[in-house]
Amino acid sequence: DQLGPTVCVGEILVEIVATTVGNGFMEAQSLIGPFASGAPAIFISQCGRLGGSAAMIGAVGADDFGRVNLERLKGDGVDISAISVDPDYPTGSAFVRYREDGSRDFVYNIATSAAARFGWSEDVSNLIGRAGHLHVMGSALSVPSACGVIDKAVDIVKARGGTLSVDPNIRKELKLDEATERRFARLVAKADLLLPSGEELERAAGVEGEANAIRRLFEIGVKEIVLKRGADGATYYSREGESIDAPAFVVREVDPTGAGDCFGGAYLTCRRLGMSPTDALTYAAAAGARNVTVVGPMEGAGTREQLDAFIAATERRS
Ligand code: ATP
Ligand code: MG
Repeated sequence: DQLGPTVCVGEILVEIVATTVGNGFMEAQSLIGPFASGAPAIFISQCGRLGGSAAMIGAVGADDFGRVNLERLKGDGVDISAISVDPDYPTGSAFVRYREDGSRDFVYNIATSAAARFGWSEDVSNLIGRAGHLHVMGSALSVPSACGVIDKAVDIVKARGGTLSVDPNIRKELKLDEATERRFARLVAKADLLLPSGEELERAAGVEGEANAIRRLFEIGVKEIVLKRGADGATYYSREGESIDAPAFVVREVDPTGAGDCFGGAYLTCRRLGMSPTDALTYAAAAGARNVTVVGPMEGAGTREQLDAFIAATERRS
């Protein structure tokens, strides 16, 4: 961790959740929120709570939704010096309602919010100049201004001996434009750690079949892969052909949002703090599982003490 903080770039939002299960927002209904959110923000919150040196690049509006996020991240120990406050645009938001079958309806305001309006600045430059690790979420690649920052930041961080992690976080159906697809492929090839979930593994590799995908990803340069499988756990793969299964903890899932981001933030932080893959997987699985027991995308992100208590008290699936 000596080299400098883990930095995450991307969208910062509030999430507002329907309190009942059903279809969409066509009638007046009860909602709960705002909760601090955005996949990159959830990731970095978990890093900070776990005691890793962490910093965020993004933007919020000059409104309470923005202040909810800034206070939250600051309270988690995250360096917020490179989060800008947009004077003209509101903080990004996502309204979410779960359907009976577990799928979700969304009303988003991201592309035309402060969340998408940030770029290279003096504060960003100062932060990247001392960063030790960069984490990129695939979801941030659909934000043009984030891409500019990511492209520049990857080169600087790598040149000073830092590392890169990538969570593809792109649904298989989502078609990216050609430039974004190429940028995504370039980032994957440079990843020291890849954190795909389910079929994102094959999408990132560009080939069918899990074993083929793993082989291909190591061929193109990835150093370490952890595949997330929701309640079925996760698996670590090394270039040397080693694999380690991490069974999930047994919990009652109340809100699945953010599991993968907390898992990734915890895994990366533990690895950067010097833990073995096995120990990092245990904390990561605990972080993901604990987060789904609480309503709100990052409300269940745990501190080291909370995760130790959770691990001691919770059964794992076999
Ligand atoms: P996200 O919805 O945040 O994008 P993801 O698809 O990236 O999630 P998941 O595989 O859903 O990631 O979750 C990451 C990890 O969190 C899993 O590997 C598992 O260890 C833990 N986890 C997720 N859901 C559950 C659950 N219901 N019970 C126990 N552990 C869970
Ligand atoms: Mg994910």
